Amino acid sequence: MRFIMPSVAELFSGFIGLFYPNLCVACHSEPAKSGSCFCMVCFGKLPKSDMFLYPENEVTNRLWGRLPVQFGASRYYFYKKSPIQGAMHALKYRNRPDIGMLLGQEFGQHIKSLPQFLSVDGLIPVPLHPKKERLRGYNQSERIAAGLSAATGIPVRTDLLVRRENRSSQTRKKRMARFGNAEGLYGINEGKALQGGHFVLVDDVLTTGATLEMCGQAILDIPGTKVSVVTLAVAMKTHF
Ligand SMILES: [Zn+2]
Repeated sequence: MRFIMPSVAELFSGFIGLFYPNLCVACHSEPAKSGSCFCMVCFGKLPKSDMFLYPENEVTNRLWGRLPVQFGASRYYFYKKSPIQGAMHALKYRNRPDIGMLLGQEFGQHIKSLPQFLSVDGLIPVPLHPKKERLRGYNQSERIAAGLSAATGIPVRTDLLVRRENRSSQTRKKRMARFGNAEGLYGINEGKALQGGHFVLVDDVLTTGATLEMCGQAILDIPGTKVSVVTLAVAMKTHF
């Protein structure tokens, strides 16, 4: 009688396949807590923020004078070597769309009952360059928006704001009535526009805010529209 033994490579890949998805995305050594992408230690070290409770905060300050927002909110401070950097890296570069969903949902639980959230008509993820999205297989901001939507019940609108793939594309130009910003990078699909709506732009990390400013200005081209901004993290230069 002869047993068919799996090869060492098969055993190894089985082992990795069994445990890899449950490893902490920040330290890669400890198992992640149930329902989280972090282990207990890294979870405790997360640079959390309650800035979303305050009308003026790091998000609104950074966009001040450039994009008029109803409110701005973020859940984490992002700085190098913090656990949130590991999570954002995995979300963007290591095929882990589930992290966007998990963190978006967690944040959504905190902000769903805030009064400023009650008037929101839709969550608009910042569109990725279409080529980049094809390569990555998903748009990380859309996954975060999906998590926020699962917690708040507010629908995700991916049909309203579009990013041009090629600025000289005539087909795309015809599909879009106008581009509201100087760069002409983002535009509104006017057929889907909702006048007087309040939309929340969703992105992973707020750095200079240039992209959010362009997207927000494009949305504000729709008469009577209001814009707010929600990001998972705000990039900080120093650790405090
Ligand atoms: Zn960890």
